Amino acid sequence: MTDQTPSSPTSSLAAPQMKPWIAAIHAYVPGRSTGADGRALIKLSANENPLGTSPAALAARDDAGPAHLYPDPDSAALRTAIAELHGLHPSRIVCGTGSGELLTVAASAFAGPGDEVLYVRYGFSLYEIAARRCGATPVEAPDADYGTDVDALLACVTPATRVVFVANPNNPTGSYLGADDLARLHAGLPPHVLLVLDQAYAEYVAPEQDDGGLALAATHGNVLVTRTFAKAYGLAAERVGWGYGAPPVIDALNRIRGPFNINRGAQATALAALADQDFVNRSRAHNATVRARFMEAMAALGNHGLRPLPSEANFVLVLFEGPLTAAAALAGLAEQGYIVRHLPGQGLPQGLRITIGTAEQMDAIAGILARLADPAQ
Ligand SMILES: *Cc1c(COP(=O)(O)O)cnc(C)c1O
Repeated sequence: MTDQTPSSPTSSLAAPQMKPWIAAIHAYVPGRSTGADGRALIKLSANENPLGTSPAALAARDDAGPAHLYPDPDSAALRTAIAELHGLHPSRIVCGTGSGELLTVAASAFAGPGDEVLYVRYGFSLYEIAARRCGATPVEAPDADYGTDVDALLACVTPATRVVFVANPNNPTGSYLGADDLARLHAGLPPHVLLVLDQAYAEYVAPEQDDGGLALAATHGNVLVTRTFAKAYGLAAERVGWGYGAPPVIDALNRIRGPFNINRGAQATALAALADQDFVNRSRAHNATVRARFMEAMAALGNHGLRPLPSEANFVLVLFEGPLTAAAALAGLAEQGYIVRHLPGQGLPQGLRITIGTAEQMDAIAGILARLADPAQ
């Protein structure tokens, strides 16, 4: 009895075994800031704010307080300020380490093995990771010429569906569902299916074009809206996002989010950024003007096969459907000092997602693409 080797079903394995649903995940690929040769390039690959950050927010970050004490675990002051700005109740708000944390915990709280998590083809790449990491099955609905197709999404709902992710505006396509289409999508979902409406780019949408997501979440138990400080607020480095939904949904997210998920500096910085709506409004106005001019320049290259997709976000997905390929355009832009986003891993070898930078940067990019498309020019 004493000299018996203990045996267990796993004793023959040489190393810890990743769960199969984790092994099926391809890690998130962030936007690059260097070329293939390691050279630093002008980064228009991650939808960061070309105006930088509100100076008031930066000052608050420098003055955030002691580092040896844990931050407020509930981000109470920040949640109160968000609630005031948007006319919401703070108890229905949860903050996340970026909205990415909230997307992940939303899937984990409401889906698991045997359940399905649904989103559109050409959706945000984090949705697949969020679905797989809780053991659920990711399901992709067909797109409508790269846009979100409400009927196709609804047709993919099965008895196993638990969570539907919709980014509005969508990344990487820039497409946008108006309030009527969004309401129709929600009305077609069974009440036990959670609609996660990812509004990472909402601040770039003109107020009169609001998709009504916050109002839907205010009146229905199965809608979670997520927002971020990473884009229009210019705080990508601080990792702050927030979600809004019915109390049971927020309760579920609070159980599994990181206990001190918004660090002290990030809480202070986001609070000050929220108070500087002038910065956000300038970001929106800049984006609308420069994006319209860039769209026009891309549309003018239509005879060379370039096709910019309509965008309500701070980027444009340009399709290369002629002799100039997206891969060649990516290389040509890198040669001239710019890095943009090529997403062949997401089934988009034919497109480049180009963040709206400064007016000078976008004019330069348009000029480079025009020369690449028409070398005789
Ligand atoms: C950028 C982005 C986010 C924001 O992620 P954070 O974690 O808040 O930085 C969320 N959803 C989409 C679709 C995005 O493009």
